[in-house]
Amino acid sequence: MSKFPDRAIAVLFSGGDSPGMNALLRAISRLGLNRHGVPVFGIREGYRGLLRAARRANRSEKDLFVMKQEIASRKGRWGLIHADQDIIMLDHPATSGIVGVGGTMLGSARCLEFKKPEARAEAIKLLKDLNVRALIACGGDGSLTGAECIMKESGIRVIGVPCTIDNDLFFTEMAIGVDTAVGTLVWAVDHFKDTARSHKRIMVLETMGAKRGELARLSAIASGAEMVITPEAGPVTMDQIQKLAESIKQGMECGRSHTIVLVAEGVQFEPEQYSQVASPDLPPPKRNRAYVLADYFQAFFQQQEGELKDLEVRPSVLGHLQRGGHPTPQDCILAARFAEQAWNSIMDPNEGSGITTLRNGRVQLVPFGAPDMPERAELSAELSRLHASLSTW
Ligand code: ADP
Repeated sequence: MSKFPDRAIAVLFSGGDSPGMNALLRAISRLGLNRHGVPVFGIREGYRGLLRAARRANRSEKDLFVMKQEIASRKGRWGLIHADQDIIMLDHPATSGIVGVGGTMLGSARCLEFKKPEARAEAIKLLKDLNVRALIACGGDGSLTGAECIMKESGIRVIGVPCTIDNDLFFTEMAIGVDTAVGTLVWAVDHFKDTARSHKRIMVLETMGAKRGELARLSAIASGAEMVITPEAGPVTMDQIQKLAESIKQGMECGRSHTIVLVAEGVQFEPEQYSQVASPDLPPPKRNRAYVLADYFQAFFQQQEGELKDLEVRPSVLGHLQRGGHPTPQDCILAARFAEQAWNSIMDPNEGSGITTLRNGRVQLVPFGAPDMPERAELSAELSRLHASLSTW
């Protein structure tokens, strides 16, 4: 049997993917190999892959032995080509050429079962059996909560690395993927703007952002989108929608050739206008925010006089397009810096578990559950005011 390492660290990617995850994987693996001499196990498909591997290995001593042999003998790309191997010991070739590739080569997944302590206990047993001394869990809010649970329940050091395009983690100034996603949205808005201008249309574009509208807000400023609607202020009332429509009308009357409205997916409307209920047993399907809003705006313009009456409102949902694409240099650099902080914390006997963050431009580890930075909420408010000043006619 090839020698199985007596200590290793493990890395997984969980929840919604974000550009820069591969750059992060490469940096974690290379720092392990080149600076610390500690092997890195890449776990496929986040907590789902970890649980799947645990259920295979925990059946018997023999199954665990077979898995260890598999990991030790099928390293890097050799392990990656075996789709049923969930844990791969990374070597240099395995992470070669991936720094600028979007998505995550290890795969990411959601695993609702991982919210149950019994499921996590199975995963923790496997990590211990495989001599894993630290786990680096990369993902958004939910994934970091899962990481905190493992930390509390296992005694294994756990480092969370914020990866999300939503920029909704307010304990850090920036997460991996935000910069790329803003760039993608600016690119998309530019394309919609060309056609909107040609037809003098109002375009309502739905962005990601379930809890907070940071992505929409940053993209609106960077792209020149005229209006941005975000979920933070609570449900949008009919009165407010009427005012938004009046403001679009005013801009178009003043000579605007088009209007681009960005609406974050988490925005709620009051009262909600549902589409036809398919079955009385099912809850009413939630319509995309862009469609609901575009319907209201179109109805508003149909009630106007003259040319305003003919204005067309078109919705579009940008969807998963926002997650893809080559990460920007800024995201790749942040990934490398977060990877370095993760390793520094793992190797320092005086450091504990925690989450890598960017604060005042410096990368630092904060404990799980650290409060939000008040500056982040202040910045959101400032950006909203700035956007309003830049886009009012
Ligand atoms: P994201 O990490 O992008 O916010 P999710 O919220 O869907 O995505 O969470 C990703 C995964 O993290 C979940 O599918 C689950 O496996 C794990 N997770 C989320 N919340 C918890 C929790 N409270 N306890 C344990 N694991 C969790």
